[in-house]
Parts: sequence; structure tokens; C-alpha cells
Amino acid sequence: MSADPRGYYRILRVAPSASQEAIKQAYRAMAKALHPDLNRGQDTTAAFQAVNEAYSVLSDPSQRAAYDQTGSATPPPMPTQAARAGTPPPVYQVEPYTCVDCGCVSPKLRHIKYTQVVSYLIGSYKTNIWGVFCEECASKRLTKASLVTGAFGWMSVPGLFYSAHALGRNLTGGQQQNLINLEICTRQAVYYFSRGDRANARIAATDAQAFAGGVNEGWWNDDEKRRARELIPIIKEVLGKV
Ligand SMILES: [Zn+2]
Repeated sequence: MSADPRGYYRILRVAPSASQEAIKQAYRAMAKALHPDLNRGQDTTAAFQAVNEAYSVLSDPSQRAAYDQTGSATPPPMPTQAARAGTPPPVYQVEPYTCVDCGCVSPKLRHIKYTQVVSYLIGSYKTNIWGVFCEECASKRLTKASLVTGAFGWMSVPGLFYSAHALGRNLTGGQQQNLINLEICTRQAVYYFSRGDRANARIAATDAQAFAGGVNEGWWNDDEKRRARELIPIIKEVLGKV
């Protein structure tokens, strides 16, 4: 068994012996480096997704231990049959996702990509604005991207086309990637559940279930389907208890 079967340590550029703190710092640095402001014109979504998947396993000591031993990221441990029978649940912790703009923790966080178009005489710039946003920040970002596009996007022939496309897409919720949002909602659900916050756990788990509902549709690739199927039992377990 390789020490890093899925390359999670390599992705975060840390040694398999790295401390939890070092992993957290590496993740923050990577997330910053992948920020769209520093990567104009490049779509860093796939890299972001890989970094997130690696971090979601390595940041959780019990998942990390399972990964080190078996090479498989077992789902975050949930209270088991024993817990239902009255013994105290095992202690486990996951860190929730936070809004990249305001830093809040919310059951309604979403990874969203909006498109902003600025045109000049003969061409236009398309910028993708993406990140994990709470509802309020998502709507602020949407307003700004759409205003800029509406004001400056249409002033060239290609710009007219891109702007119409971008505005249409922004106004229908931006581009959302089901798997990333499934991961986010599941993590928020487990986080709230582990804190005994049933109301928010239910909100996040219900949304996660909705995202997972698309798993059999054509646009999910095999890796995404595999990951979604790992998460679905966790969602069901949370929903069964809240
Ligand atoms: Zn926010």
C-alpha cells in the first residue's frame, strides 16, 4: 500500500507525516493560490475540487487515519447502533465550510460560478467569479457581476453574445457543480448534526439529498458517481435522525 494512494498529501503538498495544523495551513495557501483573481482566464474549478476532496479527508483525524491505513476515505464517522442504544456517541468533528466573502457558517452555502463580461471595441473579457458563498453574499456577487455585464458587456459583437449568455446563466443561479455542492451540504449537515443543531442539519441534509438526486443522470462522470454514492448513506443517516 502506497503511503498516499489517492495522492491527497501530494495534492496539498505536504508530507504524510504532516501535523493537522500544517495540513490546514497548506489547504489555506492552496485555496488562496487557486483564487480566480490570481488566475484570470483560467478555470481552476477542477483543481479546487481536488484540493477540497483531499482536505476534507485529511482534516478529519478519523478519516485521515482510515485513509492512511486502507487508502479509502471512509465517510465521516456517524453515531452508530451503539449510540442509539444509549452509549455515548464517538467523539468526531468536522470543520464546516465557510463563506469566502463574509466567513459565516451556513447550511445554505453553495459553490457558485458567475460570469462577468466586459467588452471593448473589438472584443470582450469574460471573468468567472466563483467561490463558496452564503445566500446573502451570493446575491451581492450576482448583482455586481450582472450589473457590470449589463453596463459594459454588450459593447462589441462577441460581447453582445457573451453578455446575453452570461446574464442568462447568472440569473438562473450561476453555474453550480452538483458534486461540489453535494460535498458542501453533506459536510455542513454532519457539522450541524455533531453539534446537536438538528434544524440546520436537516436544512443542509435536505439540500444534499436534492443534489445527490442527479447521480444517475448522464452528466455525472464515474468518479463523481462513486463519490456521491459514498456520501448518500451519510445524508440518509443524518436525515433519519433529525
Ligand atoms: Zn457570506
